[in-house]
Amino acid sequence: MNEQLRAGAKQAVGIDLGTTFSVVACLDDLGRPRTLINAEGDKLTPSTIFFESGHVVVGKEAVKAIATDAASVAECSKRELGQRFFHQTLGGRQYPPEALEAFILNKLRLDARKQIGDFEHCVITVPAYFDETRRKATQDAGFMAGFEVLDIINEPTAAAVAFGFQHGFLRPDGTSDLPRKILVYDLGGGTFDVTVMEIRGNQFNALATDGDVMLGGRDWDQRLVDFVAEEFIRKFGVDPREEPNASGRLWRECEDAKRTLSARTKATLACDYRGNAVRLEITRQRFQEMTQDLLDRTAFTTRQAIQAAGLEWKDIDRVLLIGGSSRMPAVVEMLRKLSGREPDCSVSPDEAVAHGAALHAGIILARNRGETPKFKIRNVNSHSLGVVATEAQTNRPRNAIVIPRNTPLPVNARRVFRTQKPGQRSIRVQIVEGESMSPDDCSQLGKCTVRDLPPNLPAQTPIEVQFRYEENGRLTVKVEVSGAGKQLEHELMRENSLTPEQLRSWRSYISGLPAST
Ligand code: AMP
Repeated sequence: MNEQLRAGAKQAVGIDLGTTFSVVACLDDLGRPRTLINAEGDKLTPSTIFFESGHVVVGKEAVKAIATDAASVAECSKRELGQRFFHQTLGGRQYPPEALEAFILNKLRLDARKQIGDFEHCVITVPAYFDETRRKATQDAGFMAGFEVLDIINEPTAAAVAFGFQHGFLRPDGTSDLPRKILVYDLGGGTFDVTVMEIRGNQFNALATDGDVMLGGRDWDQRLVDFVAEEFIRKFGVDPREEPNASGRLWRECEDAKRTLSARTKATLACDYRGNAVRLEITRQRFQEMTQDLLDRTAFTTRQAIQAAGLEWKDIDRVLLIGGSSRMPAVVEMLRKLSGREPDCSVSPDEAVAHGAALHAGIILARNRGETPKFKIRNVNSHSLGVVATEAQTNRPRNAIVIPRNTPLPVNARRVFRTQKPGQRSIRVQIVEGESMSPDDCSQLGKCTVRDLPPNLPAQTPIEVQFRYEENGRLTVKVEVSGAGKQLEHELMRENSLTPEQLRSWRSYISGLPAST
């Protein structure tokens, strides 16, 4: 065991819980972030879970099982956070996606414990573009894995903090040299995020954020998978994607070829299925053509984020690349052209996020000890929050936005509604997240039903809905009926969220599992 790390035991870790890979970091005695090695000796742990007749295996071994037992392997569960159940039945059981994330986190916790001793606190990162439901699900996953989650922090913000640290922006007194505007372009395995940050002294301010939680390296892989499968069908009339194990092998082959194409100008793709085999050569040029629309989507979103921050490219001092998929030469080239400057690849795209999370965790622990924080983070919300209200003219439901997107956090907001009928005994307040005026196109966060209103309330009694949006993007809602002699406060009933009892039960099951059984 590393002595420096042992001395720093009882600390918190920072966790980059990625769609395809996860990374854990902690601070050494000198307060520098370092990546922890997992039980297999690697810095990156595949976010893959294999359910093997009652046993749960996470990481590299689970990835191997894709070739033979794909139906029992869960991949990319992060993409399904916020849904009630993961799409695939595993070991005869349907799991909520946050429970699958918890299996991964439990393995990370146990492996980290081998290096730094007992600890329970962590900071987990989330894509800046994650909505509130997914943030809550991530926090719940941490709880189920036996962690005490100190905070959740946006991935690009964490990367900017690590960048600031690495570049000496943070002096020992916590200040930095210059106010700098940084664009963080984060293309991971399953999500894309872009955030415009300002580093001003020891203050890290997010100015605007945008992204796509359904766009990542996996979509580039998919193009290669489809390319090979179509060739296979043309030659042999059968589709290797139809059989889970063959499909699993093909995905791995394509992901590998994609990585090769970042280093070389051509790669080969091989696929065998039902006694037939194809071997194809693909050039980087061809690969870039077949994925151009995906890259264009990231370019479009990047421009939007700069605009939302009220800036132009000339105002951006650095373009920081993070996320494994930012290694693709087409990404670097596109950003070079757009920004007119050389993108900054100086932080490790795989580790920067976990390092930033570890620095943030260290700050929270220090603050809890009564010390002054070395730096401060200010976030913005990535999606507008509203309530469903009835439009007076049309009598149709519409999203009445209470907190517009890109508002600096934390923020308190309130909005007054009125009862419709005299003597109304209950009110339902439905909370939605999204930009559309139509509630159906927004994500439904949940509802508060205020029951047992005092009798004889006149029509048009004011009902005040109060939102408290925390720095980490989590929300608390209160509904108050004033003028009723007393004020009523109600908890938000969430859609697709596990109850506290369910969470406790999952926690005692998952956090009791060994790293691999
Ligand atoms: P992350 O979520 O940041 O760990 O990124 C994982 C994604 O990065 C996966 O889709 C990987 O296939 C992709 N990736 C990692 N290395 C490379 C590379 N050299 N070239 C292209 N994609 C890569």
